[in-house]
Amino acid sequence: MARITAYTSERLALDPPPLDRSVPLAELQATAGQTITAQGMGGAAALDLFADVLAPACLSIDHPRYLSFVAAAPTEAASLFDMVVSVTSIYGGSWLEGSGAVYAENQALRWLSDLAGLPEGAGGTFVSGGSTANLSALAAARRTWRDRIGDARRPGGLVVVSSAAHSSIASALELLDLEAIEVPVDESDRLTRAALDDTIAGLDAAQRSAICAVVATAGLTNSGTVDDIGAAADAASGLGAWLHVDGAYGGAALCSSGAVNRFAGIQRADSVTIDPHKWLFAPYDCAAIIYRTPALARATFTQHAEYLDVLTDAGDWCPSDYAPHLTRRARGLPFWFSLAVHGTDAYREAIDLTLAVASDAAEMIRGREDLELVLEPELSIVVFRVRGWAPDDYRRWSDHLLAEEIGFMVPTTWRGEMVFRACIVNPLTTVADIEAVIPSADEVVGWSR
Ligand SMILES: *Cc1c(COP(=O)(O)O)cnc(C)c1O
Repeated sequence: MARITAYTSERLALDPPPLDRSVPLAELQATAGQTITAQGMGGAAALDLFADVLAPACLSIDHPRYLSFVAAAPTEAASLFDMVVSVTSIYGGSWLEGSGAVYAENQALRWLSDLAGLPEGAGGTFVSGGSTANLSALAAARRTWRDRIGDARRPGGLVVVSSAAHSSIASALELLDLEAIEVPVDESDRLTRAALDDTIAGLDAAQRSAICAVVATAGLTNSGTVDDIGAAADAASGLGAWLHVDGAYGGAALCSSGAVNRFAGIQRADSVTIDPHKWLFAPYDCAAIIYRTPALARATFTQHAEYLDVLTDAGDWCPSDYAPHLTRRARGLPFWFSLAVHGTDAYREAIDLTLAVASDAAEMIRGREDLELVLEPELSIVVFRVRGWAPDDYRRWSDHLLAEEIGFMVPTTWRGEMVFRACIVNPLTTVADIEAVIPSADEVVGWSR
């Protein structure tokens, strides 16, 4: 216990933590070898192995120059409380077993619901990620559609969604045997009212009645663009369909006074996804799925079994009823604890800070002739090109940054062209950090082959 306590407090005190690196399998086979044996190696040796070999082979997501994908920057309070959640052996699936934990998680969900402007009765649960949250939302939408048309097995439901929506939506449609009606996006990848109305006008009566949901994205992962959620809400209500808003990444900006107006219409959603493990300073894994009418989710997900009747019949709030899961870790508690410790104002300030750094980074890029902003950052994602660079230049620069442990910024693709993308979710990231991962004027010239 002393060793673990020492290790964790040292790790938390690192400022910054080491970026570390991705290690090839053959190297790990040579250095870590066979770790599980009949006799066991004992706690000290296993911890040493982790600290010396395995942990350095995992990137530190909370490094301020981790700008790829969508990173995470858990608060110390949240990370520490994650340990408390494990030590206290809480069952997070039912009120009977985990009432105190469920109560606290629900207050954290309440805060998110209030930010989105959802009504008092809204609620849901924390699942492992935005992908599962989106799957849950669309499963509830499909069930509600089937109830509406009075055909519990009806195949072939349709979902109206932009061509730029997150890959997890396509995956959920595949799993649920639903089909996308793709709406073309504008030059910023946004779902617009005009394109949405055009697409829907092109559908026949049979197609319209097969629409279970309209999906809008509150912050695209590639660009940070926010869809016209109000238009999506109008379309959904016109069709009598479910409105799902995927705010896995961008929903966090609802707590910023400066950005909140971009999300107008989200208050009309039937379900909302927001990942505290992305931009709300919670450790993995923690994604909120919130329903306007939780009873519709219960009808979709509640598992029925003799040994569970005692839970179902009690009529209490059970998180297991709101997603395809039964046993669950009370994974919302680290997020709750950090909110309770710091207060929600601190969250607003931290989000505002990351938004300001993104906008300052964009300004810095605009000031360089050898760089070009691909689009104005709407949230905290900055997409830019290096003039004259070929795809291989981007890849080699990105590899160089990681190999030298300078930072982690992988390229992305915009309209078929390779470009750089920096996603800022860490309040410790500064404009100087962004500058450190961008090639200097000399490097831009020297690097290009
Ligand atoms: C990240 C993301 C997801 C998927 O969330 P996971 O937690 O990675 O499963 C879904 N939608 C959007 C918009 C995202 O940014």
